[in-house]
Amino acid sequence: MRDTHLFQLALGIDSPWFVSASDFDAEGKRLDIEIDFKSGARLPCPDCKAADCPVHDTTKKTWRHLDFFQHQAFLHARTPRIKCSKCGVRQVEVPWARPGSGFTLLFEALAMMLVIHMPVAAAARMLGEHDTKLWRVVHHYVETALAELDLSALKRVSIDETAARRGHNYITLFVDIDQRRVVHIAEGRGADTVSGFADWVDDHNSDASRIKEVCIDMSGAYIAGVSENLTEAEITFDKFHVMKLIGDAVDKVRRDETKSRPELKGSRYLWLKNDANLSARQMATRNSLARANLKTGRAWAMRLTFQDIYKEPNRRWAEVQFDRWCSWVRRSRLEPMKQVAATLMRHRDGILAWFDSRIANGLIEGINSLVQAAKAKARGYRTLKNLVAITYLVAGKLDLRLPT
Ligand SMILES: [Zn+2]
Repeated sequence: MRDTHLFQLALGIDSPWFVSASDFDAEGKRLDIEIDFKSGARLPCPDCKAADCPVHDTTKKTWRHLDFFQHQAFLHARTPRIKCSKCGVRQVEVPWARPGSGFTLLFEALAMMLVIHMPVAAAARMLGEHDTKLWRVVHHYVETALAELDLSALKRVSIDETAARRGHNYITLFVDIDQRRVVHIAEGRGADTVSGFADWVDDHNSDASRIKEVCIDMSGAYIAGVSENLTEAEITFDKFHVMKLIGDAVDKVRRDETKSRPELKGSRYLWLKNDANLSARQMATRNSLARANLKTGRAWAMRLTFQDIYKEPNRRWAEVQFDRWCSWVRRSRLEPMKQVAATLMRHRDGILAWFDSRIANGLIEGINSLVQAAKAKARGYRTLKNLVAITYLVAGKLDLRLPT
C-alpha cells in the first residue's frame, strides 16, 4: 500500500478528494499531507445543493491535524469556490475542517477534550499552539451548543452570584436545579441580570412564565429582578445565606464584646461552625466560654435556635417557631441580632417558602465546585468572556457535538 493511499484511508476522505502527496520530515518532526480534488471535478453548491457546479477558483489552505506519533501533522489543500448558476460564486466547505479554522475537526475535538480537563494554557502548551487559537475553538463550540440550548423543561432555578476575580467583577449563575447544570451566566449581580435571563429563556425554546421556583439570596436586586421578570416564580430565600447573615451578626456581637472580654479574641469560628466541624478541644473551649454568661454566648444560642427551625416537620410549625424566635431576639439587647431579626421578618414568606420548595443554592455543591474549578482554570484568562465560556463548558452539560 502506498503511503498516500494509507493516509487517504486514515483520514477517511473520498471522491472528489484524494491524497496526492506526503512529505515526512523526521528532523523537523513533521508530516505534511497534500490533499487535492480531481481535476475537472464538478462539485455541489453548498447553498442550493445543485450538483455539477464548475470550479471557479481555488485558495491554498493548511490545517493542523492530530499528531502523527510524536510528529506534528498538517493537511494542505487548494480549496475551491464553485460557480452555481443560481447562487453565484460560493466557497466549498472541506469535509475535514469547519470554515475559517486552521485546525481539522479531529484536532479540535482533541483540543476540546483537553480543555474540559485542564487549563487552556496547559492544553495549549501540550499541543504546541498559542492559547488564543485554542480559545477561538472553545468559543466556537460553546456558542454553537448554547444556540441549540433547549430550556423547555426548565422550571426551578437557583440564582447566585460568584466573584469572577478576587475582590471584584461578579457574575451571576442561573442553574437548573433539576438538571444540575448552569443554563445562563450574566455579568454583574444587578436586577438586569434577571431580565437578561428572562429574555434568554424566551429565546431558547421556552417562556419565562414557565419558571415556577427560584432560589435567591435576600439581595434587593435579585428580588426586584425576579418579581419584575419571572412573574410566575415563587421565591425561596437560600437557607445558607440566611444562616450566614445570622452568623455575621453573631460575629459582630463577639467583636464588640472582645473589647471588654479579651478571652473572646480569636474565637470567631468557634461560634460560627457547627459542632461536627470543630475539634474536641475547640468544642471544649467554646463550651466553657458559652457558660461564662457572655453576650456572644447568647447570640450563639440564637443562631443555634434558628438553625433548628429548619428541622421543623412542616411550614406551619416553622412559622410558629420563626415568629417566636423573632420576638425573642428583638427583645434582646444585642443590636446586631435585633437588626438581623428585622431583616428576616421582612423576608419571612420567602424564608419559610423553603418548607414547600426545599430548594437551596448551597445544595448545588457539585456545580459550585465545578465553577471553582473553572475559576482555577481561568487563572491567566485574559477576559471575563473566557471565564464565562469555560464555566459553560465544565458546568453547563452542553451538547458539544464533537466530531469523532
Ligand atoms: Zn446554488
